[in-house]
Order: sequence, then structure tokens, then C-alpha cells
Amino acid sequence: QPAISIRNVTKTYAPRGKAPAKTALHGIDLDIPAGSLFALLGPNGAGKSTLINIMAGLVLKSTGSVSVWGTDIDEDPRRARASIGVVPQELNIDPFFTPHALLDLQAGLYGMPKADRKPLELLKALGLADKADSYARTLSGGMRRRLMVAKAMIHRPPILVLDEPTAGVDIDLRKQLWDYVRELNALGTTVLLTTHYLEEAEELCDRIAIITDGRLVAHDSKDALLSRL
Ligand code: ADP
Ligand code: ADP
Repeated sequence: QPAISIRNVTKTYAPRGKAPAKTALHGIDLDIPAGSLFALLGPNGAGKSTLINIMAGLVLKSTGSVSVWGTDIDEDPRRARASIGVVPQELNIDPFFTPHALLDLQAGLYGMPKADRKPLELLKALGLADKADSYARTLSGGMRRRLMVAKAMIHRPPILVLDEPTAGVDIDLRKQLWDYVRELNALGTTVLLTTHYLEEAEELCDRIAIITDGRLVAHDSKDALLSRL
């Protein structure tokens, strides 16, 4: 059974102000195999965020269906969402929260008992242990990015979805995030990330789907795909 199954998903954004209606996704069919480290690769405006946000329940699709670990996101959105940790592109963290408090709050939202939460362990794995009790407003962009990853993983979901995790991130932090993602994947987490860097897909991922203008134009194992380029 695939971790995520996307069937004929379309999305048309309603017109807003002078902007006309915009079809961002045209009939996407895609399976994300369980255990894969999967890149959704495409240029800016291709529809990557839209697709991820639909899976995460942040954007409503126009037509089609999405299942997460066999659960249809329309039939049981809470259950589907509990299987996914999402790292959005925006680093929207309340400046007066500490990493420790933020992770506790997030774990509470998922109904995790206190004893199971282990926020400090997670912060340590992401190199944030010494910032556990500092206000988020004092964290660098790179630290905030890592905190968003910790927030996505606090309930130990089997699937991690990251939207452009290393856009605008310096090379050291990029390598650090890649290592963390590889480690999670080796431990069994299915990872789906969007990127517009071919290098990122090539270095990190084992399967690649290419999206442009809201359409999938290729989808294969990395080796098969790169041998055709
Ligand atoms: P990305 O960085 O994923 O390419 P964009 O820069 O296209 O995202 O969009 C940034 C934000 O603006 C997003 O929250 C998106 O939903 C919103 N947005 C993008 N395009 C439009 C549009 N044509 N009309 C209204 N909102 C938009
Ligand atoms: P990507 O993540 O690949 O950069 P997006 O999914 O952000 O692509 O955007 C796909 C298309 O949908 C773009 O043309 C973008 O401007 C448009 N779009 C994104 N969000 C909105 C929105 N909230 N309202 C209207 N158009 C949007």
C-alpha cells in the first residue's frame, strides 16, 4: 500500500481582485511508495506547494481524491492528518514561544500523553537542545527551519512532507537537514519533499516526479529518470 495516493486531483483557485481564476493542478495521479524518499521537482509556480498543501489539509482540492496510508482525507481528515508531519515553507512561529513550549503545545494538539512526548530528544537530534528555552524571536532562520521540522515530527508520524526545505538555506544547514532527513528515512519514515533544485533531488532522493504548469511530466526512480536526461 502506498503511503500517499493521489488520484486525478485538480485545483482551481478562485479569482481574487484583478487576478483571474487559476488552475494550479490539472489531474494529478501519483503514488508515494511507503519507505521512499521522494522528490517533487519543478520550477516556481509549478504547483508543488498547492499539491502538498492539499495533502496536508491546508488547501481544498477542486476534484479528485487523496488517501494517506489508506485513509481518504475527506472521509477522515483527522486520521489522515495524524499520519503526516508537514513542514510548510513559511517559518511562522510565534516569537514569544520557546521551542520546548511549542513542541509541548503541538504534542498536546495530537493528544500525546506527556510521558511520550520527548521534546528535548527531538531538539537534540536537530541541534537545538541549547535553545530549548529561548524565545523563538532570538532564533536564526536556520534554527527556525529546524524547529519547524521538530514540530512536524513531534507526534512521530510515518510520513514527513517538506515544502522547499532548503530554499534560501546556507550550504552547512542544507547538509545538516539532508542528513537528518536521510536518518529519518533509514528509520522507516516515508519522506516527500518539494524542491526546485535538481541537485537536491539527485543527492537526497530515490524517486523523483517532475511537475511543470500543474502537470506531472515524468515520474520514476532517480536512476531511471537521470539516465534519460
Ligand atoms: P511559492 O513560494 O510556493 O511559489 P508563491 O510565491 O507563488 O508561493 O505564493 C506565496 C503566497 O501567495 C502563497 O501563500 C500563495 O498561496 C499566495 N499566492 C500565490 N499566487 C497567488 C495569486 N495569484 N493570488 C493570490 N494569492 C497567491
Ligand atoms: P510552487 O510551489 O511550485 O511554486 P504553487 O503551488 O505555489 O507552485 O503555485 C502554483 C500556481 O498557483 C502559481 O501560478 C501560483 O501563482 C498559483 N497560486 C498559488 N496559491 C494561490 C492562491 N492562494 N490563489 C491564487 N493562485 C494561487
